[in-house]
Amino acid sequence: MSDFSIGDFGPLLDSIPSYVFVTKPDSFDIIYSNSIFKEHFSDNLKGSCYGRIKSFLANQSQQSGSSDGTFGGADFYCGVCDKWFQIYGKTISLPDYGEVRLYTMEDITDKIEYEKEMERHTLFDSVTGLPNRKQLDIDFQDVVRYAENDNQDGMMLFLDIDNFKIVNDRFGYQYGDILLKQIGSFLSTLNKFGAQSYAFGGDEFLILIPHLSVNNSGKIIETIISRFDDSWKLDDVMYTTSASIGSAMFPRDGSSLGSLLQKVDMSVYKAKSEGKSRLIEYHDTFGSKISRHMDVVKAMRESVLNDLEGFYVAYQSIVSAKTKQVESVEALMRWKHPELGNIGPNEFIPIAEDTGLILALGEFVLREGMTKCKQWVDKGYIKHLNINLSVNQMVCDNFIDTVKRIIDETGVDPNSIVFEITESIAIKDINAMNEKITQLCDIGIRIALDDFGTGYSSLNCIKDLPLGIVKLDKKFIDNVSNNNLDKTVVMSVVDLSHKFDLSVCAEGVEYNEQYGVLKDMGVDLIQGYLFSKPQDAETLENEFFAITN
Ligand code: C2E
Ligand code: CA
Ligand code: CA
Repeated sequence: MSDFSIGDFGPLLDSIPSYVFVTKPDSFDIIYSNSIFKEHFSDNLKGSCYGRIKSFLANQSQQSGSSDGTFGGADFYCGVCDKWFQIYGKTISLPDYGEVRLYTMEDITDKIEYEKEMERHTLFDSVTGLPNRKQLDIDFQDVVRYAENDNQDGMMLFLDIDNFKIVNDRFGYQYGDILLKQIGSFLSTLNKFGAQSYAFGGDEFLILIPHLSVNNSGKIIETIISRFDDSWKLDDVMYTTSASIGSAMFPRDGSSLGSLLQKVDMSVYKAKSEGKSRLIEYHDTFGSKISRHMDVVKAMRESVLNDLEGFYVAYQSIVSAKTKQVESVEALMRWKHPELGNIGPNEFIPIAEDTGLILALGEFVLREGMTKCKQWVDKGYIKHLNINLSVNQMVCDNFIDTVKRIIDETGVDPNSIVFEITESIAIKDINAMNEKITQLCDIGIRIALDDFGTGYSSLNCIKDLPLGIVKLDKKFIDNVSNNNLDKTVVMSVVDLSHKFDLSVCAEGVEYNEQYGVLKDMGVDLIQGYLFSKPQDAETLENEFFAITN
């Protein structure tokens, strides 16, 4: 090395932050190196570190095929110093030395680590550490191809945690993340059965069982279900949650990831709608029902963006059992869509609740109902107007303010308003609800307990909440004139309610015999087709109010 001098360039090359060295053309023995190269490699120069560089360079010059040994930007990993280098090389001819090779080399370890980290981020879920959707995209291609080649089906499971929102709402997001992490690490243990789990974002997971492991699928499903029977330890609390699972086979139910995801999604949707906490296998007949659901969701979103176009309120009268005079009307939402036709509240209310659109719909009914209430009370048609509330409206922080604002806007007398709530609202969080209901009562609004007798806690509600009216569900009324058991139930509810100073309203009264029996038992109010079906405001004003009042 000593006989080689780079002349005037020496000080310059020593001052730059790259490794620079010159070698003999064929042996790659070093004949010059700058000071930073010497510093880094001095200990190892004769040892394995440079040995590796040397064989790498030999390889490169063979591979590059370039006669002058030029190559640019080759990455080299040195296992001895655990670093990555990027090397550029060129054969040059120096006047006194003939042909030599000049190399520059950069330490790119940080850059490579960063890239690896980025790659990990793009292919793995940051909360659970499981591979993500992108990785699934890559893996699925192979798995489905192998299954096709062997003419055998693999299985895909889609797992959705039931009521995951509750964890976040009750304990905070940190706990939600802890739960997801635990579920993620449990699911990763399924690889012992040959299954690969993926995090799908939020509370959704996907499990891919290649065809070669598909005979383990029973065991896999059993393991998942029994794990969810147990609780999860979230720091200082134990939490139990169920999961809904949808399954589909590939390539049988779909050979592209998109179509298969659609199938498992349908299955899990069905599992949820059948009461959650279950596994549903995909079946060809799912399609039509689910696409109807999607159509309704889409149409509802469009309508909400469009001032609730197509929605209107129908009103059904509630009469005094004694006098048959109209006391009140119940506001019932209706929806007529230009393509889907009339969609009933039993179909669209649950969807509105699931999607959160119930807040817009609920406010619409409050405004419409209170506007009509003001007009009709002023004209002496009715004393009260009943409006149904949904639990999502009630739990909203600004619910009471919204109610007060609409009362102000419409000028309605709050004493003429009745809010109908179901016991599912009442028992949601009985203390918080009690507080809200009390606030409503303070404004002057009365509360009716709707669908009384359909749940399990109706009696508790009567005892614990400041109610004004109990509405007996239609199922007790249907056979009240010929079934002694129903008669006894109705009689007991009337007695009990009157003891608590509550009025009783019978719903769904269709026949005169029912009316007679109910009146004799002391029921206060009657609602049903016998007196009137729900009708739009105009029809009711023109036909009904004009005749009965
Ligand atoms: P609901 O509150 O129990 O309303 C009474 C339901 O019984 C209405 O059905 C009404 O049309 C029906 N009905 C009344 N009398 C009779 C009768 O004699 N025979 C029969 N067969 N049915 C009768 P509708 O209008 O289809 O509403 C269904 C449910 O949708 C309501 O049950 C209520 O839970 C919900 N709903 C309707 N409008 C609203 C709303 O504005 N907000 C909320 N949150 N829910 C609403
Ligand atoms: Ca009602
Ligand atoms: Ca009802």
